[in-house]
Amino acid sequence: MRYLLPLSIFVLAAASGEASAATIGKCKFNTATFAFAGTPTEQASCLLRKVKILGNVDAAPAEIPANLAGFIGKPVAVSKAKVQQAITAAGLTEAGVGGSLNDPLSRGNTNNPTAPQARYFVIHDTSTPNFGNAQFPADIDTSNQVNRFDGYRSATNAKAHIFLNRRGETYVGHKLDVPWRATKLEGNIGTLSRGMFIHIENIQPRRKHPSQPDGNAPTPGFSTAQYDRLALLYLVASTRSGTGLVPAFHAAMDEGLSDGHDDPQNFSLADFDAAFGRVLASVR
Ligand SMILES: [Zn+2]
Repeated sequence: MRYLLPLSIFVLAAASGEASAATIGKCKFNTATFAFAGTPTEQASCLLRKVKILGNVDAAPAEIPANLAGFIGKPVAVSKAKVQQAITAAGLTEAGVGGSLNDPLSRGNTNNPTAPQARYFVIHDTSTPNFGNAQFPADIDTSNQVNRFDGYRSATNAKAHIFLNRRGETYVGHKLDVPWRATKLEGNIGTLSRGMFIHIENIQPRRKHPSQPDGNAPTPGFSTAQYDRLALLYLVASTRSGTGLVPAFHAAMDEGLSDGHDDPQNFSLADFDAAFGRVLASVR
C-alpha cells in the first residue's frame, strides 16, 4: 500500500487572487476555489491517470470514456425515485449506500455552510488482506476470507465513507454527509479540504512483491459486482450533489507526495464506465 518517494510538495503561489491561495498536488488543487485545475473533465483526466504497479502513475492524462464524459460536472438529470429503485434492485438500502438521497453531501472546510459541496469521488483499494507468498484463493470474489468487513469496521474512525467487497456488499464507515479525509493530499491541503472528497474503499487482496510487501494485486483487479456497485455509489453520490462528481484515483491524487499510496491497482476505467452505462440505462 505504501511506497516512499522523496519529499516533494507541490505548493505554488497562485498566479492571481488572494495572497493565501495556493495550488497543491500534481493536479493542482486550488485552495481558493476548492477545485483542481481545469474543467471537470480535464480534472478527471488528471485524477484518473492509470495507477501502475508499485504506485507509478501514468504521466499521460486519462481518456475519459463516453458514459462518464457525458456525466462528469453536469447537472444530474435522473429522478431520485429511479435511483431509489436501482438501490433496491441491487439488494441495498439507502443506509447501505451512505444515507438518504435527500441529504446533501458533506461540504468543504469541515461542513462549513459557506464552502462548496463535495466534488470528488475517490476510488481506493484496501490492499488487504495480504496473502504474502501464498496464492490468492480461487474463490477470491466470494470467499469470506477476502470479503469480510471485520477489519474495516469502526464506530467513529473508519478509514473511508464506504467499503465495497467483491460480492457487491457494502459497509458504511461514514455517511456521505460526514466530512472525512483519507489521502495524503487532503492532509497537505489542510482542513479546508475536509468534506470535498467522498472516499470509497474497494476490497482487493494483495501478495508480496520483491519491492513492496503488498505490491502484487490480483488480475483482474476487481469483480464485475464491484464495478456495478461502485457505479451505483457514484450515481448515488452525484444525485445527492446534483452534479456529476469528478472521479479520482487515490494514487493519482497523491502522486509526488511522500508516503503516497499505490491504489487502486488493476482498475479498468473501461469496465467501470461500462458498469456506469448499465446503471444509467436502468434509471432512464
Ligand atoms: Zn487509498
